[in-house]
Amino acid sequence: MPNEGHVVLAASELGKLIAALVQKGYAVVGPTVRDGAIVYDAIESEKELPRGWTDEQAPGHYRLKRRDDDALFGYVVGPQSWKKYLHPAEVRLWSAERRDGTFRILNNEAKPQPPRAFLGVRACELKAMAVQDRVLLEDKYRDAIYAARRAGAFLIAMQCTQSAPTCFCASMGTGPGIAEGADLILTELMGSGGHRFLVKAGSERGAELLRELATTAASAADLSQAEQGVKTAAAAQTRSIDNQGIKELLYKNFEHPRWDNVAARCMTCANCTMVCPTCFCTTVEDVSDVAGDHAERWRRWDSCFTESFSYIHGGSVRTSAKARYRQWMTHKLAAWFDQFDSSGCVGCGRCITWCPVGIDITEEVRALREGTNHGNA
Ligand code: SF4
Ligand code: SF4
Repeated sequence: MPNEGHVVLAASELGKLIAALVQKGYAVVGPTVRDGAIVYDAIESEKELPRGWTDEQAPGHYRLKRRDDDALFGYVVGPQSWKKYLHPAEVRLWSAERRDGTFRILNNEAKPQPPRAFLGVRACELKAMAVQDRVLLEDKYRDAIYAARRAGAFLIAMQCTQSAPTCFCASMGTGPGIAEGADLILTELMGSGGHRFLVKAGSERGAELLRELATTAASAADLSQAEQGVKTAAAAQTRSIDNQGIKELLYKNFEHPRWDNVAARCMTCANCTMVCPTCFCTTVEDVSDVAGDHAERWRRWDSCFTESFSYIHGGSVRTSAKARYRQWMTHKLAAWFDQFDSSGCVGCGRCITWCPVGIDITEEVRALREGTNHGNA
């Protein structure tokens, strides 16, 4: 790996990086342990990071385990992605009240959000942000809520040096290494050189922050260790998707018998869409108090796995699990290319881990490839 301005930050200095961000007015969000999982939440110091924890993942399985070292980012990905902050699950769009016989829309100016600094963004998560940028910022309809939250975000990315058995970013071209797209790009290094981070600035504001910290020049050994760590993470991935002709594969197999097979297992619980960092669908709900004097309109995440999602006049278009799973996967891996010029999947593996029955999108693609052209020509 060439030394393109890489420096080394001792792990003991990470708290100063967090403090410098706070001083610049950022609300820092990072990984922390809660309810038996690594989740993203506001943090004020490095003490809240998941020091010495790792995650054990498999289809329908997630457990935290102790590591035998003090790594701060020694896990892969948890159930949440950064869309928790950029495209939140619930947003009040407006409220209104009835007073003195008139209906008045209240002052619904969105509260200004503090700019957030996201600490520990993985390669696949950076790509997922780029996918949501394309959908929510760069398409015909610009989402003002997402735009405001995204504009202020300071991204501190963390290269992966380990993979979960559910990861397949290498086959999607979305990880585990990170070349660009973040303000700072870090790699956590342990071992003989001590606990430290290899750091590279990816923007002017990242470089500015880095200049405020005590760093040392990166050695050839630091660069080599980081490069080897990323290669090891990629090589450890046992799952993959063959993206060759995948759009045509999905479109040609509308009636493949595999859809019945997966439908027999799918509970249409929608977990896969909730944990997915690229899924963006929402619905709008109006609520009022019992007296009917106060009303609010909320935007909430929705899912193509619910029956109501495809409700149009007269009923739901997708009444079966088969229709809903097929819609989800065909949108992710085929129609997304037509709409947004990329796959809708970044290979994070969350939908595999958090599916209660362990349905595996990589396995479903493989099964579709076994005998093609079932249905549409
Ligand atoms: S594929 Fe799994 S996570 Fe997704 S809706 Fe079906 S059962 Fe739930
Ligand atoms: S479809 Fe699954 S693996 Fe792909 S980005 Fe969404 S959650 Fe991750």
